Formats: sequence, structure tokens, C-alpha cells
Amino acid sequence: MIDLRSDTVTKPTPEMLDFMTKAEVGDDVFAEDPTVTAFEQKVSAMFGMEAGLFVPSGTMSNQLGIKVLTNPGDEILIDQNGHIFNYETGGAGFLSGVQISTIQGKKGKLSPEDIKNSVRGGFDWEPKTSVLCLENTTNKGGGVCYSKDELSSLKSFADQNNLKVHFDGARIWNAIVHTGIEPTFFGEIADTISVCFSKGLGAPVGSMLLSNKENIAKARRFRKMWGGGMRQVGLLAAAADFALDNNFSKLKKDHERANQLAEAVDGCSNLSIDLNSVETNIVIFDVRNESAVEALTRLEEKGVRMVPFGPNTIRATFHYQIGDAELQKVVESVKELFD
Ligand SMILES: *Cc1c(COP(=O)(O)O)cnc(C)c1O
Repeated sequence: MIDLRSDTVTKPTPEMLDFMTKAEVGDDVFAEDPTVTAFEQKVSAMFGMEAGLFVPSGTMSNQLGIKVLTNPGDEILIDQNGHIFNYETGGAGFLSGVQISTIQGKKGKLSPEDIKNSVRGGFDWEPKTSVLCLENTTNKGGGVCYSKDELSSLKSFADQNNLKVHFDGARIWNAIVHTGIEPTFFGEIADTISVCFSKGLGAPVGSMLLSNKENIAKARRFRKMWGGGMRQVGLLAAAADFALDNNFSKLKKDHERANQLAEAVDGCSNLSIDLNSVETNIVIFDVRNESAVEALTRLEEKGVRMVPFGPNTIRATFHYQIGDAELQKVVESVKELFD
């Protein structure tokens, strides 16, 4: 089975497992795991942020970011396709007591124009809008990236309106590869950044919240409260560190393969795709004349798995454990079924 459902389905390689077993560990709730501490310092320095906090999931690092940047009753702004709004089980309302104002952007991206009338708090009866959440790359938006100029203008808008910026960088690695933007630039734009090691980088577990020392100290307490304080977790930080060192450079290939699938889809009479929206490792396309679920069942019979992303919409996501031979097989199956 060729699994393009997500870039989270990779399995640890023997080399990664071997590297994990050599990690020096300690009790990280006592801040005594040298592997975790060194990895937090390495990643935060990479983004020009003061500190990092290793956590089990991207959902936890997003929710911790919102927690440390808001007060209960605040409002946060996010594109309507955002992960924090759609796929985090309503956590922001429950854990931080904030309400989410969803904005219609483009392919999951926002601009100052999109949000200029959505900042509130001038009157006692309004919620106080305090955080702008930006996702990069956009997941539901199709894996597209913000340009440096787009981010700079959003940062100016945020500063002028007293908004903090939380950056959902679950796939920031793909954005860095596609745009060439240096990681420290994201550190300048954002107050908090969530990065994931369990997506395209291929670690089995792990994300990190990056921010200043004060916010990370606060987040550390909430991580413990929410059950995310882990003990000899250097084993997992080692896997994430290995993934960052060894697999970051492989993302470029994922993007090329995604593009090749997109071209094939574009050539099929029963499929449609916006080729301009394929920038990184995600390919989103529509099927004509049948539902996504029906089309996916037929694809699965050919040994290819993708996910439904709407009534007639399908998402395929590339990762480094899909090579050229697998891509060829996928392209052939797609052509056989849909052309
Ligand atoms: C995957 C993902 C997350 C976090 O997901 P977890 O499964 O909790 O690690 C957050 N944001 C985006 C955009 C994602 O794609």
C-alpha cells in the first residue's frame, strides 16, 4: 500500500532508532534531560528565539502558544481553514477561554486587508482581539507559503493594532525550503512559534513551542497541568533531532514529487486541480462525476491511499518514505482510473 494520507505516517528507520538508543537521558520534569535541553536550545537558536519547550504534539504547542498570549474572554483571529479552528477539538475555548473569530483569506493565508475590520476591544462590550494566528505552510489551504513581504505587512498590522502573533509552523520546514526565508525571520515576526518534527521530517513524536524565556516558563507550567510533562523524553527528542539533521534536506524531493503528481492530475479528464496552489508537499484536487469517497475506494483497490478533503476533494501528501518508484505507481493508477 502506498500511503499518501499524510506526512505523519512515516516510520522510524533503523538509523533513527539506533540514534535514539544512544541518547543521554534524565528526568525532564526536573529539567534534567540533557538531550531535551540541548535540542530546545538548538531549535530556539535556529529561529532566533530565546527558549523552546519540547511537547508531545503540534496541538499542544499551538494551544500553549494561545494560552500564554491571551487572557480568558479575549478573541483570536485565524483563517477559516486554520488547524487551530478546525482540528484541535475546540481546545482554544476550553483551555484558554478565548473565542475564535474566523476570517476568510486565500488558500489559508490572511492579509492585513482581510483582517482590517476584525480587530475589536475599543468598547467595554466587545471582546478584546489579542492574537493573530498564522499558519505556514497552510494545511487545509493546500500547503502554500507566505512570502517575506506578506509576513512583514502582517507584522506591521499586528504591531499597530497591539496584536500578538502566534505562528503555526507545523510545516514551517517545507515553507523554509520552498521560499528560502531564513528561520530567524519567523522569529522576528512571531511572539510564539509551534514547529513539528512528526510531519515531513519523519520523527515518530514531537513538536516544540518557541518564544521568549518568560512565555516558555509559563508554558512549562501549563504543559505540566495538561499532562504533557514527560520524564526520560530525551529518547524522543533524539529522534526529532535526528529527523531535523537528516530529513530536512529531503523535503525538496517531496515538493518535486508532489508537483509531478499535480501535473498528472491536471492531465486527467475526470479530475481538476489548481496547479498554482501546489507549492510544497501537499496536492489537493477535485474529482468530477463521483464523490471523493467513491474515488478513494477505487484508488485503494489499486494500492494507493489518500484522504477525502471535502465532498469532491482529495488530498495527497508526500513524505520521504515515498520514492520515485512509488510516485510512478501512483501516477499510473491515477491515469488509469481518472483519464
Ligand atoms: C498537523 C498539524 C498540527 C498539529 O498536529 P498534531 O497532530 O497535534 O501534532 C498543527 N497545525 C497544522 C497546520 C498541522 O498540519
